[in-house]
Amino acid sequence: MSKQTEAIVQESLDALFDDESFLPELEKEMREQAFTSLTSILSTPNHINKSFLRVPLQNHEVKRIPAFRVQHNNTLGPYKGGIRFHESVNEEEVINLASLMTLKNAIHDVPFGGGKGGVVINPREYKPKELHAICKKYVQYFSDVLGPEKDIPAPDMGTGDREMDWMMGEYKSIRPGEKYRGSFTGKSIENGGSLGRREATGKGVYFTFRYLIYDFIKENNSWLSEQDNVFAKTTLDYYDKPLNIAIQGFGNVGSVAALEAYYCKHCNNKVVAVSDRNVTLYNSEGLDIPSLIEYTSEHKGDLPKDDAELGETNVKAKIMNRDDLLTLDVDVLFLAALEDQIHEDNMEAIKARIIVEGANAPVTSEADQYLSDKGVVIIPDILANAGGVIVSYFEWIQGRETQFYSEEEVFKRLYDKMRETFDRVLPKFFQDPYPLRKNCYILAVTKLSTILYRHGKLY
Ligand code: GLU
Repeated sequence: MSKQTEAIVQESLDALFDDESFLPELEKEMREQAFTSLTSILSTPNHINKSFLRVPLQNHEVKRIPAFRVQHNNTLGPYKGGIRFHESVNEEEVINLASLMTLKNAIHDVPFGGGKGGVVINPREYKPKELHAICKKYVQYFSDVLGPEKDIPAPDMGTGDREMDWMMGEYKSIRPGEKYRGSFTGKSIENGGSLGRREATGKGVYFTFRYLIYDFIKENNSWLSEQDNVFAKTTLDYYDKPLNIAIQGFGNVGSVAALEAYYCKHCNNKVVAVSDRNVTLYNSEGLDIPSLIEYTSEHKGDLPKDDAELGETNVKAKIMNRDDLLTLDVDVLFLAALEDQIHEDNMEAIKARIIVEGANAPVTSEADQYLSDKGVVIIPDILANAGGVIVSYFEWIQGRETQFYSEEEVFKRLYDKMRETFDRVLPKFFQDPYPLRKNCYILAVTKLSTILYRHGKLY
C-alpha cells in the first residue's frame, strides 16, 4: 500500500475510533484492540502472487517476464480488479492498486474485494501472437488463485476485451467442466461481455463530475450556500457558469469522458484541451472530440502529433508539449492517464479548481494536501472511476443468469448505483472539514470495518 493510501486509511480509522455511534458495543480495551486489528488487516494485502512467465518470442528467444496478482482483501466478496500490461508495473504499485480496489468496491457497495494484476511489458512492443502466449501463461501460472468465486480479473491499462477473451479461454481449458463465465470480466460482447463495459469507466468519470457540479447543486443550492465549507464555496462558484475542461489521457477513459462532455446538453462546458503520451492539443473555442476519436481509432490510439497529421482531420488546435496540459488556465482537469501526475514540482502551477481522478492515484499525497488546503475539489479515484468495476459486476451477474441487459439498461443501472453512492457521500462532504477523498475513505472503511467485526475477525 502506498504511504498516501495507508495514511488516509489510518486517518479514517482514527475518525471512526472517536465516533461513538460506530460500533458502540466496542468499548475501552476492546475498542483499542479491534482498531489495532483493523489497521493491520487493511494496511497489508492477503496474498502477493508473483511469477516469471516463460514466454517464447517470435525471434525464438525465450523471455522471463515478471507478473503479479495481488489479492488485497476479500471481506466483501471475491477479489476483483484489472490486469495491467505496462513497463512500469512493480510490486508496490500493484499492491497499492489492489488496495484501492478494496476501497472502491466498498464505497460503491459492490460485493467484491480488491485485487490487481500486472505484467511488466510494453504491449506495443509485442506481436499479437506473443501477447496471446503471455495471456495464456498468466492464467496457467495463477489459475489456482483465480476463479468466479475467488478472484476475477478484468482489463486495466494496456489490456482489453481481446486479452480477457484469451484468458477466459485458457481458464476454461485448464478447468474443464467448471464454471468459467464469471472468471474474467471486460470480455467481448460475443464472448459473454456486457454491453457498455468498454465505455463504463469514462462515462462514470464524467457522470461523477456532472452530478456534483450540475445535478447535486441544482437540488441543494440554498442548503449548500449556508455551509461554512471551503469546498462548498468552490463548487457553488462553478454552478451555472461556462466551464473549460482539460483532459489528460485520450485512451479508453479520457476519450469517452471527453465525448460525454462534448455531447452533454444541459452542461455548460467545453473541452479545450486533451493530451496523450506525445502531445497536448488546445483550442480555447473547444475541440472537435468526435473527429479526434475517429483519428485515434485509425492511428493506434495516438492523437495527431504535428500540423501535418492535424491537417488530415478537420480539427483546429494548437499543438503543445504533453505536460503543458496540466498547468493550462482551465476550470476543470480530468486526469485519465497514469499515477503521480500532479506532484510537488508542478502542484503550485495547477490552475484548475476541480480535479477529477479518472486514473488511479494521479495526485501524490503532497499535492493532494497542498491543493485541498487551497479549496480545490479533488474527486478521488475510488469515487470517480468505479464505472468499470460496477459494469464488471453487472457482467458477472449477467453471466450467472445467462440473461443480458440492453446498453440502455446497463447505463441506467450504472448511474443509479453511482448516484446512490454520491447521495451517501456528498451531503456529509459539504458539512465536514475534510477533503472529499477522506470522506470517501471513511465511508469505505466504515463498511469494511463493520463486516470484519460481524465476521468476528477483530478479536
Ligand atoms: N481496472 C479497472 C479499475 O481499476 C476495472 C476493474 C474491474 O472491472 O474489475 O477499476
